Amino acid sequence: MLTVEEALQEILSRVRTLPTERVAILSALGRALAEPVVATREIPPWPNSSMDGYAVRATDTAKAPASLAVVGVVTAGAMPARTVGAGEAMRIFTGAPLPDGADAVIPQEDTELVDGHVVLRKSVGRGAYVRPRGEDLHVGTPVLEPGATLGAAEIGLLATLGLSQVLVYRRPRVAVLSTGNELAELGQEPGPAQIPNTNTYSLFAQVLEAGGEPINLGIAADRMDSIEERLRWGGNADVLLSSAGVSVGELDLVKAALTGAGAELHLWQVSMRPGKPITFGTLRGRPVFGLPGNPVSAMVTFELFVRPALRRMAGFRGIHRGRLVAQALAPIDNPGFRRGYLRVTLERTGAGWGARLTGDQGSAILTSMVRADGLAVIAGDTVVPVGAPVEVIPLRVF
Ligand code: AMP
Ligand code: MG
Repeated sequence: MLTVEEALQEILSRVRTLPTERVAILSALGRALAEPVVATREIPPWPNSSMDGYAVRATDTAKAPASLAVVGVVTAGAMPARTVGAGEAMRIFTGAPLPDGADAVIPQEDTELVDGHVVLRKSVGRGAYVRPRGEDLHVGTPVLEPGATLGAAEIGLLATLGLSQVLVYRRPRVAVLSTGNELAELGQEPGPAQIPNTNTYSLFAQVLEAGGEPINLGIAADRMDSIEERLRWGGNADVLLSSAGVSVGELDLVKAALTGAGAELHLWQVSMRPGKPITFGTLRGRPVFGLPGNPVSAMVTFELFVRPALRRMAGFRGIHRGRLVAQALAPIDNPGFRRGYLRVTLERTGAGWGARLTGDQGSAILTSMVRADGLAVIAGDTVVPVGAPVEVIPLRVF
């Protein structure tokens, strides 16, 4: 049986980054940048005021209180009509260009207006309340590298640089198939021996969260022809993702159906809990995953193997989640030789984090996944005592 690291290495060695496309910047949210972005403008383009007040020459304020003649007004969106000379001040608003001659701004709060003169209570130094030209960015400064995730701040920056479109990697299209005679589709009342189809929906959501575009292939019956037919429906996808039917029972036909469809299988069974039966192969160069059927096993194996593969395909520089070290707040037991990825809640302790099992770790207990803040990585045959450190893969951002 492979270790998780061996299996992941095998998978990542066979996935390639997808081609790029140019999209409107708002369509780029959450995607990976595929080109370097370099500043083509000075930001801000001219020195401007960071306060409502008066543009002055700092030397005129040295002996405050001082009285200066108000010679004009400059508002945001207008250029100053004249320069500011010695003994003069110009009314200025936040974001308005600093008039030539002036080198500082006195905030309105520190002034008083008397007969067309402004009386300054305090002196200011050169550059006070002035945002210099190029303070944020100079022309030629590299701002973003390929592989960067485009979040709200990055999208704002692209707009600041006047870019309405940007080159990003294509999102992987992931065809999601559920298999099993016992599954009832959402919207149908489950029959006497049926259970609701869960995995299509949790996996669909995980694909979206990982930056992919899911396609629903529905439910295949436990028959070769049914599985093969639906696999064909997914023929245009970049990735095929099925769940269940990969174990050792007579009705576990996914591997045979994949091979029958022409896939080459590269691994089966990984030493982990939950999980273990998972198959990975390539079908005409495209990755195919056969995840286990139990809802938690499907989600955890997606998290460990499919998510990094999708992120690699989607062009992200960082494809793995961060990890943190928490203190066990209660004993954490991982019986059996397989490495555990156990569902834990995280809570803040004095300096760091504490972790506690969410309860029953059965691979069909989906509510314990709902409660989980992360997965604690625990070696096989281990009981972690209270207070001992445990490595946790956080699944939520705190
Ligand atoms: P299998 O690997 O086909 O033996 O499935 C393992 C367990 O997962 C069985 O109890 C199945 O009923 C359950 N299961 C498989 N697919 C789904 C699904 N799409 N939604 C919910 N449970 C499932
Ligand atoms: Mg089954």
